[in-house]
Amino acid sequence: MSSAHTQRGATHMEAALNTEAVRNDFPILSRTMRGKPFIYLDNSATSLKPQSVIDAEMAYYKELSSNIHRGVYEFSERASTLYDETRERVARFINAPESSHVIFTRGTTEAVNTVAYGWGLKHLGPGDEVVVSEIEHHANFVPWQQIAERTGATLKFIPADPTDGTLVLDDLISIITEKTRLVAITAMSNVTGFMPAVEPILSRAKECGAVTVVDGAQLASHRQVDVSALGADFFAFSGHKMLGPTGVGVLWGRSEILEDMDPFLLGGDMIVKVRKERTTFKDLPERFEAGTPNIAGVIGFSAALEYLESVGMEAVHRHEQQLLSYALEQAAEQEDLTVYGPADVSLRGGVFSFNLDGVHPHDTGAILDQEGIAVRTGFHCAQPLMQVFGVPGTTRASFYLYNTFSEIDRLFEAIGRVRKVFG
Ligand code: PMP
Repeated sequence: MSSAHTQRGATHMEAALNTEAVRNDFPILSRTMRGKPFIYLDNSATSLKPQSVIDAEMAYYKELSSNIHRGVYEFSERASTLYDETRERVARFINAPESSHVIFTRGTTEAVNTVAYGWGLKHLGPGDEVVVSEIEHHANFVPWQQIAERTGATLKFIPADPTDGTLVLDDLISIITEKTRLVAITAMSNVTGFMPAVEPILSRAKECGAVTVVDGAQLASHRQVDVSALGADFFAFSGHKMLGPTGVGVLWGRSEILEDMDPFLLGGDMIVKVRKERTTFKDLPERFEAGTPNIAGVIGFSAALEYLESVGMEAVHRHEQQLLSYALEQAAEQEDLTVYGPADVSLRGGVFSFNLDGVHPHDTGAILDQEGIAVRTGFHCAQPLMQVFGVPGTTRASFYLYNTFSEIDRLFEAIGRVRKVFG
């Protein structure tokens, strides 16, 4: 089975990128896990790191270790320059017109909370409505639910279709109304890889004068992002899902709205003057970056973006679509497999979520682990979507630029083993 499938994958598709060369850049890929060659299919949780990212982060500690924006000595100045240059690089990467609108956070979660607390607490009140969708990750769901509760606003939902996890937009006009003050929507589901067409949602929100937040945690690692064209007020994403270190993320926002937002975290490095009676805050972006940031992580993130730029986001996306098509083709031949997400691959990033009839996803994950295959099992921080599907969880294999067709063959061989053990 496996060689026939490998051949089919190889012959029917022109390679989008040179996976072999890419794989050599990721030291962990030469490791074994449970005594088997390591197969990493948990990219929606976090990505692996190329040597250049590891080196960049290490070089800061070895050569420059110092705090930024405060030291008057050479190493601090150099570290500050690297940090500030990363902001410029991020702005170019997402086509943001102004780098001061790029705010470094710990990740998407902190970025969304920055808006929820900074904008939501300030502007929402009884009678206001906040709209999210049923396919959101908890990071773009729980903050809005909690802020709505605290402010007396009402939370409303764009429903998901239980058959394929796509969004049902038929009633958009009655869901987003003149009462809507904020709409928060994901650009790509971490459960199904579904990439909703956010344009009709954002334009309806705009028509109603609502502020818009796009959760780009999954999209940014898989597709080219252009925040200038997107038309959202905020775009949040995480560096660790796009080859960067953990603990670094970005909140990009439109200046008028950022200016109209209270800082969520208060303390050092974000103030101009502190007197006993009153404190004044710095301008953007420092106003939203209180305290010592993850300097090494930000510097490593720069190397990650450089790496992705060198490969090209279009190639990354095409490669993932080939892998996903290949996985879906194999899954279609197996009647006891339920696959979640739309059948149309063009609507999806490289996420393959499935359940095997009668087998709990954790049991599937345990057998895959024995085969050296890392996947995620459970509800994927998206319990509302699990409720829509009517399942406690799924097994999720998620692909990235270093994954291969033969790894997918190995995945299906391992699924065969699960079947034997639990069938
Ligand atoms: N949104 C989505 C769609 C995600 O997949 C994730 C991470 N799994 C997050 C938000 C949260 O990102 P982080 O944990 O990096 O803050």
